[in-house]
Amino acid sequence: MSDRPEARLAELRAAIGSLDVEISALLERRLALAGEAAGAKARGGAPLRDLRREAEALAPLRGSSPGRRAALEAVFRAIGTASLQQQTLDRARARARISPVEIAPGVRIGGGDLALIAGPCSVESRASLRATARAVREAGAAVLRGGCFKPRTSPYDFQGLGRDGVEILRECAREIGLPAVTEVLDPRDVGFAAERIEILQIGSRSMQNTPLLREAAQAGRPVLLKRGMGATLEEVAKAAEHLRTAGNGRILLCERGIRTFGDATRFTLDISSVPILRAWTGLPVLVDPSHAAGYREWVEPLALAAVAAGADGLLIETHHDPDASWSDARQAVGPETLSGIARRARRIHDALKAESAEGRLP
Ligand code: PEP
Ligand code: MN
Repeated sequence: MSDRPEARLAELRAAIGSLDVEISALLERRLALAGEAAGAKARGGAPLRDLRREAEALAPLRGSSPGRRAALEAVFRAIGTASLQQQTLDRARARARISPVEIAPGVRIGGGDLALIAGPCSVESRASLRATARAVREAGAAVLRGGCFKPRTSPYDFQGLGRDGVEILRECAREIGLPAVTEVLDPRDVGFAAERIEILQIGSRSMQNTPLLREAAQAGRPVLLKRGMGATLEEVAKAAEHLRTAGNGRILLCERGIRTFGDATRFTLDISSVPILRAWTGLPVLVDPSHAAGYREWVEPLALAAVAAGADGLLIETHHDPDASWSDARQAVGPETLSGIARRARRIHDALKAESAEGRLP
């Protein structure tokens, strides 16, 4: 050991350098093992991520002080992220295996067909919903949507018809023979909605409202979980995990755009969420181009891009007389536009499905 500071520094650097070489060899081995584990998960149809195991893996880390422990944890999180990134790319390329969610007898989402969910932003009246519902069925939708408890930014805007709206939605859905979906905003309305409506929606503004997630999960209905407008994909996956640990694995995820600096659209549709969330969670991922776009002109191109990215379904706000919508009128499409979108979306979906059956996708 040298006394001279410069010489000592050189010695220490050399020692650190050789440790780094050892660590990098170990990391190579770790990445290879993780890659093999990812392959085993894919063959077994398991999702890429197991959030409970990830949390448990950090628990045995020791440090000689809280500061050291935090540093170790940060290092292991970074290792985990790097390895996950590699596995995610591989899995997304191979197209994730998705566990379909049964909505109603014979209606499944995520089973390889493209599911269309359509209907008005808000349930406004029986007559209006009835007219829209017919158009929705004609476009070949699998589910009728309609908001009853509306999360409005301004208290002076229409707040929805509440429980009366739920009754109207149920009636109209029965008339056209389709299941329905509606958003729940308050845990106290969950039971009422669940008795009448097949799918409970958790809106973007509620994605991290854990008491609501728990209540919705326990209502015995599939849950459509929308991405928080400021939520990372990690946070979406964890919100879904709240539903799962509350006993409900019937989960549909939904990308609906996030806040960015872009202001030409209402939100920015994050297409990358489609392959990544599918790979991570094995859950069906739907895309709502309507709230992302904010303008009906952009709904179709975003919808088609979502299908090309592998979305399991689309959620499109539709109104028999779009400009007369009581909420989100600017983004609502009319019956003809909906039919056109549905037709072209299915053509893209079917073309990709045929390629993948022939093993021709990258
Ligand atoms: C909705 O789908 O009615 C809605 C309010 O959407 P989001 O929660 O994505 O804003
Ligand atoms: Mn809306």
